[in-house]
Amino acid sequence: MDNIIKLINKAEVTHELTKNELVTLLKDNDHNEEIFKAADRVREKYVYDEVHLRGLIEFSNICKRNCMYCGLRRDNKNIKRYRLEPDEIISLAKGAKSYGYQTVVLQSGEDDYYTVDKIKYIVSEIKKLDMAITLSIGEKTFEEYEEYKKSGADRYLIRIETTDKELYEKLDPQMSHENRKKCLYDLRKLGYEVGSGCLVGLPNQTMESLADDILFFKKIDADMIGVGPFIPNKDTPLGEEEGGEFFLSIKVTALIRLLLPDINIPATTAMESLYPNGRSIALTSGANVVMPNVTEGEARKLYALYPGKICVNDTPGHCRTCISLKINKINRKVSEAKGFRNKTYKKETIN
Ligand code: SAH
Ligand code: SF4
Repeated sequence: MDNIIKLINKAEVTHELTKNELVTLLKDNDHNEEIFKAADRVREKYVYDEVHLRGLIEFSNICKRNCMYCGLRRDNKNIKRYRLEPDEIISLAKGAKSYGYQTVVLQSGEDDYYTVDKIKYIVSEIKKLDMAITLSIGEKTFEEYEEYKKSGADRYLIRIETTDKELYEKLDPQMSHENRKKCLYDLRKLGYEVGSGCLVGLPNQTMESLADDILFFKKIDADMIGVGPFIPNKDTPLGEEEGGEFFLSIKVTALIRLLLPDINIPATTAMESLYPNGRSIALTSGANVVMPNVTEGEARKLYALYPGKICVNDTPGHCRTCISLKINKINRKVSEAKGFRNKTYKKETIN
């Protein structure tokens, strides 16, 4: 049997691959369909046919950080900034509930306007709606994460972006890779469902580095992993770079499903922004989650991490119908549960 097919079979059966084996699969381009299909089978076996929807609220595009790849970076003067008041955020969550979402993801730049007390207020009010809450608001202290948790936050998303420390710190000279990792460990200690992920196609990123990312996600036993192609934004220092390839980001997603069989994996917005029906392709290559935007009005457009973001002129109601149709079209169904990770595979702990 072809060596590559043997590796795919091994991953499908044992959910283990070495770094060299991952690199071999990442570099090979003749068996992508087989990898995607194997990931789809593992997805079906461990997390079934249901797709979990999370309503995404992008509540502020103000950010004190300066990540080189991101349109929200503080040095970008070409973007109109906005922030929503706590009661506006709660009202968007109520809207999400009315569209049938069981989970909201609250995402923003790192905006110190939202004090611990404000976040606690927002979280505890949304909790009264009987929704699961994911926060994605960046690097905070252990004590801050602890306060959010006590007020009812269930999950936290913070991508490692890349496990290559040197590359990471080049992408924001003021950021510490150690601290980013510490955040993930702190969140796990506090009992959050921990979500992370990486960008694919960063300048000078190698297949070896992507293999390290995948193994890192396995090592920390992440509960959710989102992969997005890097999409160059002309308002940033990386505006002239090449950007990530859609099918490579799908392949990374599929490999993550093969190695972490029971986790939640979103079909990310960046994928569909780069490639028509990108989320449907991801959903049939290992993904089982979609995060439709439930932000309303101008904010949808102004939360411009990268160009070409989909659905900026749509309404939350439209997006909800559209995504349901897309999910039905690939013979899957929208889950009515909150969509926590159901650990059916080997339990591992992080240190
Ligand atoms: N400020 C928080 C959350 C908002 S940014 C944080 O950084 O964690 C959310 C994600 O957007 C980032 O993790 C990054 O992976 C992604 N992102 C930023 N710029 C991007 C770009 N140009 N292309 C694709 N994804 C990008
Ligand atoms: Fe800010 Fe997050 Fe963008 Fe970095 S990736 S500039 S932290 S919004």
